[in-house]
Amino acid sequence: MPEQIPPRPAALRRHRDGFTWEGVERLAYKQDSAAPFRDVSRQILFSRPDLAGELRYFEIAPGGHSTLERHGHVHGVMVLRGRGRCLVGTRVDEIGERDLVTIPAWTWHQFRAAADAPLGFLCLVDAARDRPALPKPEDIAALRADPQVAAFLES
Ligand code: MN
Repeated sequence: MPEQIPPRPAALRRHRDGFTWEGVERLAYKQDSAAPFRDVSRQILFSRPDLAGELRYFEIAPGGHSTLERHGHVHGVMVLRGRGRCLVGTRVDEIGERDLVTIPAWTWHQFRAAADAPLGFLCLVDAARDRPALPKPEDIAALRADPQVAAFLES
């Protein structure tokens, strides 16, 4: 049997209307997880065995949010579309197009789209990475001790 060679994407893949690309499947975010999230899609833009990183594009619909989580790997994020807010540790910030967000290891984080705009962002990660951990009730309680974080989590 000949060795199975995984298909390689073309060197150039054009963007299509909106924020989709040729040869890139639009996936539901974390289909295999019970993690709480709302209205998030995921597209894997770059992922190959000879590249140590992966670049993904996530888009959160207006009013939606990503999972509140933390993990040992780092995220490098660039907002490409729309606006919203992000929680990184105990800090809440408004974010918009072309802003850069670094999520350090083992730091709680969540992204929320504005009520009237989507939030689309590129996310750079290690290809080999650990699975996210979800907050326990005591973690939520500790986060809520900060009024700004409590307001973010309730929004
Ligand atoms: Mn994460």
